[in-house]
Amino acid sequence: MSDRMLDLLAALDAAVGVSGDERLVADVVAKELDGHYDEHDIDALGNHFFTRGGGDAAPTVMLCAHMDELGFVVQHVEDEGFVRIAPVGFHDARMVVDQDLAIHGSKGAVLGITGAKPAHVLPPDEAKQAIPIDQLHVDVGTTSRAETEELGVRVGDLATFARTGLVLNGTKVFSGKAVDDRAGCAIMVEVMRRLGDSPAATVVGVAAVQEELGIRGAGPAAARVKPDVGIAIDVTLCGDTPGVEFSRLPISLGKGPAIKYFDWAPEAGYGSAVPRHLTDRLERAAGAAGIAFQREVLMGGATDAWGIANSGVLSGCISVPSRYIHSAVGCVHLDDVEGAVKLLLAFIDDVGKNGLTA
Ligand SMILES: [Zn+2]
Repeated sequence: MSDRMLDLLAALDAAVGVSGDERLVADVVAKELDGHYDEHDIDALGNHFFTRGGGDAAPTVMLCAHMDELGFVVQHVEDEGFVRIAPVGFHDARMVVDQDLAIHGSKGAVLGITGAKPAHVLPPDEAKQAIPIDQLHVDVGTTSRAETEELGVRVGDLATFARTGLVLNGTKVFSGKAVDDRAGCAIMVEVMRRLGDSPAATVVGVAAVQEELGIRGAGPAAARVKPDVGIAIDVTLCGDTPGVEFSRLPISLGKGPAIKYFDWAPEAGYGSAVPRHLTDRLERAAGAAGIAFQREVLMGGATDAWGIANSGVLSGCISVPSRYIHSAVGCVHLDDVEGAVKLLLAFIDDVGKNGLTA
């Protein structure tokens, strides 16, 4: 793992891009891809398309990573200056209290802390429960609504966890506020950087919007590109931490990227049953690249692969194992990130040279 790859992941993780305003992430992606694409387009939703052309008859492979991160939206400013927030995306309320937040207002980032009632005064029944996000407040240090508004905070402003990503103690574990899915963005960028001037297949790298709100960007992106195959790149849950039943989440950090076979989010009705002829090809690519990989069957989540398939495009997904998904401290392993890059490069080469029916 090069420092360059870590720097790329850290830069993407640091960028602010809550669903609905992914522009700053797109800026980082475009800057990091400078010189490594032939065309750059944007659609009405804010999806960005970076195309590197193969030969005239070359098939097209679309890689799709979502730019948006979970966050919050300002819903109200109290007379006393406290900011009330609503969740943007699927938060676990247990993870939101006692956090530093950055509210991205008209005058720049406003730091706040999520406060709640002290334990000393909690009724016993409340003490056993997670504090719902709608009962939290963000304290920005002010004492009046006017003072808070003077900081540039308005209803509708977006907020993120204010946490700087870092590598844990000289290991290869990177923990950041937005590894979901900036790890995928980093992989997409690095694949395009390593493609060279004339790849075997045409590659369209899509930096997509609004995955966390119900997979809204990837489908329209696939409908626009009409690739021969679309591969989502996203994180997936690990089962290798204390208290988790590994048989229900049999994926480990650091044991290689995962090839998705199946996922299903029953409540939302999203999911992907990746065609076996495609998983076979992805496994073949892993073999060609000489990398270890894991096989993924996930209940309770879905990715942009669903949106791509829903547009009538052959669709699969390469997943990066991640601990603590949908919290401020999500972790990925740099070897898994590097493995995903190598797997995708081998897949693109194979599809370009042999087509999709070989
Ligand atoms: Zn994601």
